[in-house]
Amino acid sequence: MSSPVSSQGATPAAADAASLKFTDLGLAAPLLKAVADTGYTTPTPIQAQGIPLVLKGGDLLAAAQTGTGKTAGFTLPILHRLTEKPVTPKNGRPRCLILVPTRELAAQVEESVRTYGKYLNLKSMVMFGGVNINPQFAALRGRVDILVATPGRLLDHVGQQTVDLSGVEILVLDEADRMLDMGFIHDIKKVLSRLPRQRQTLLYSATFSDEIKTLANGLLNNPGCIEVARRNTPTELVQQSVHLVPQIHKKDLLAHLIRQHNWQQVLVFTRTKHGANKLAEKLVKDGIPAAAIHGNKSQAARTRALAQFKDYSLQVLVATDIAARGIDIDQLPQVVNFELPNVPEDYVHRIGRTGRAGSAGAAVSLVDSEEMGYLRDIERLIKRGIARVEVEGFVPPERPAGALIEREERPPRQGRPGGGGQNRGQGRGQQSGRPGKPTGSAPRSGSGGAKPTGPKPAVANPRGPRPAPAAATGAPTPNRRESHNRPAAALFSAKPGKGER
Ligand code: AMP
Repeated sequence: MSSPVSSQGATPAAADAASLKFTDLGLAAPLLKAVADTGYTTPTPIQAQGIPLVLKGGDLLAAAQTGTGKTAGFTLPILHRLTEKPVTPKNGRPRCLILVPTRELAAQVEESVRTYGKYLNLKSMVMFGGVNINPQFAALRGRVDILVATPGRLLDHVGQQTVDLSGVEILVLDEADRMLDMGFIHDIKKVLSRLPRQRQTLLYSATFSDEIKTLANGLLNNPGCIEVARRNTPTELVQQSVHLVPQIHKKDLLAHLIRQHNWQQVLVFTRTKHGANKLAEKLVKDGIPAAAIHGNKSQAARTRALAQFKDYSLQVLVATDIAARGIDIDQLPQVVNFELPNVPEDYVHRIGRTGRAGSAGAAVSLVDSEEMGYLRDIERLIKRGIARVEVEGFVPPERPAGALIEREERPPRQGRPGGGGQNRGQGRGQQSGRPGKPTGSAPRSGSGGAKPTGPKPAVANPRGPRPAPAAATGAPTPNRRESHNRPAAALFSAKPGKGER
């Protein structure tokens, strides 16, 4: 094959891709009708360049991030090709296999297949682990044209001979870099060994590590290569801000922000599953419809929560990083980082859940003093400072003297805060939810005779201390109300009083 990443967007179509319409791409009428139903008229660059290539039947290597419209970019021409050559497949013997890293992405890709294929006579199926396998057995006893699967569960079926991959004409590896990050390489190789050699293969990846290049070299035959102009990165598209606030006041501040801004659809990230549950419970207690999704929730509960969130019956979805991967909601307006991730790249993935396909979005991070190292690392990564913004009108509830303050669960530190303590290769699990140190000055619960309360309301209070100077973060100065002269460390002193002006 040709060098996978050397030719970039070099198709003739690419030159005038910007002026193309869906009707110019050579797609069958039922597909154009389905696209029209979605309201999209202009293909995104990955669609304008990729669809003609896939329609011709060649292999494809695409450098495309999520949010570029890549799903429709492969789904539409695949549906076209499958209907061009109408074959009734044997039961349980799909003609197209789409491999994806996560359950959520699998569900969403299959939903796209159904959306764009609704006027066609093709059957799709989604397959992933963590759910009862019996309905999958039942579905595989019938016709399946397009199978969207995560590698692990697919191999279960291969092992039990309930699926037959010998009829696959088109293979898609979606988010291939994520699949490798998640340790799926051996599973992928096993799946590949079951596929016919003669087939069309499409590989989508946001990044091109040596591992991906090796995989592509072994898989693809003289592929067309597309690297769409990187869409504006989330860090450019999404309006970002930080509220400096002690951990113990975050829940109240979040409820305040939701009410103050009347946020109707907000995705909130926590670092632990337990933290997600507790936060959702607290919001519900406060009268804000909320639910948590994470790896300990049943797939049915996750699917239900996501559906309710999408149709606005659930105002807040609280998610851990892994559960949130692949969540794709058109125009999700608001993301909140209840805690900063300790891997700076995760911050970019999180805020990329909003500001999609060019729409505006906002991401707010609630940052406790212990997280300042993470914040600095994030700002270094995105090469800009994030505005520290004070919250109007937030007065944290007074805690009665002598009352125990509920201890917040904090995930364990991995090395120096944000100092490269990366948790790469998390495999298929979640980060540990082992409780860490109590935060701020909150006394340990159960430590007996707890001293009253931590610091008085600090930074989120308009009368609270000023945020850290951007200079202290080593990042460029953002242009909002954020530049102040006190060092970050002073903002969160555990000693009562020091955190106030
Ligand atoms: P993806 O990169 O496939 O995750 O798609 C990102 C988002 O873009 C999804 O919410 C799609 O519904 C949306 N989208 C896909 N194609 C288009 C298009 N041609 N115009 C506008 N939005 C689109």
